[in-house]
Amino acid sequence: LEERLRKSDTLSVVGELAAGIAHEIRNPMTALKGFIQLLEANVKEDFSMYFNVITSELSRIESIITEFLILAKPQAISYQEKDVVTIMKETIDLLNAQAILVNVQIQLNHNGSVPLVYCEPNQLKQVFINILKNAIEVMPSGGTIQVDIIMKNENELQVSIIDEGSGIPEDKIKRLGEPFYTTKDRGTGLGLMVSYKIIEEHCGKVEVESKVGNGTAFHITLPIRQTM
Ligand code: ADP
Ligand code: MG
Repeated sequence: LEERLRKSDTLSVVGELAAGIAHEIRNPMTALKGFIQLLEANVKEDFSMYFNVITSELSRIESIITEFLILAKPQAISYQEKDVVTIMKETIDLLNAQAILVNVQIQLNHNGSVPLVYCEPNQLKQVFINILKNAIEVMPSGGTIQVDIIMKNENELQVSIIDEGSGIPEDKIKRLGEPFYTTKDRGTGLGLMVSYKIIEEHCGKVEVESKVGNGTAFHITLPIRQTM
């Protein structure tokens, strides 16, 4: 419990600071990008190797800032009764091109009618994007991602995203969702933090099951509002 409290404390502080800092960083970034382009166009020698590094590092900073902003200032929050299957379908459509490129199939399984969930659809989509992206990234030589949407019990919907990737060692599972925890060369370590925060705000929970060498399952549980 203490661990949980400490974590959510950190999250709210980070959340408050993030928006301000991110905006402050964005403006000089835009100027930097512009001048670097000008420079590249005007230098005689071929420094393209340097410029490539500069450009890719700048875009890394940009993606960190973008993920922070999602966390701190979610665009126009509007909670509503929504069909999670539709949100998931839209998410899969969005990521399919990227998945097909590495021979990854995303298979959506659900049977018939799934009750509506009271949620912020854009935020839920963000969670699905983040977790599906991780799943794709962990399967560089292809495979299938199973997305199961089921009623866990009469009060809860469960969305499971199951990959065939490298898996996560048991002692690392508790580090997921920690700001900046990443094992990737070009990772931000913010995707899961943002996702956990969003699911927490939906009074849901995220559980991770993983087996090294076999794959990982992210189970997201969301409450269904009882209609009177
Ligand atoms: P990033 O993707 O930028 O590294 P995330 O917060 O999305 O940041 O993920 C944090 C870390 O959690 C990843 O670097 C990876 O080590 C681990 N991880 C997340 N999802 C998976 C997965 N499906 N399979 C294996 N490891 C994962
Ligand atoms: Mg990620």
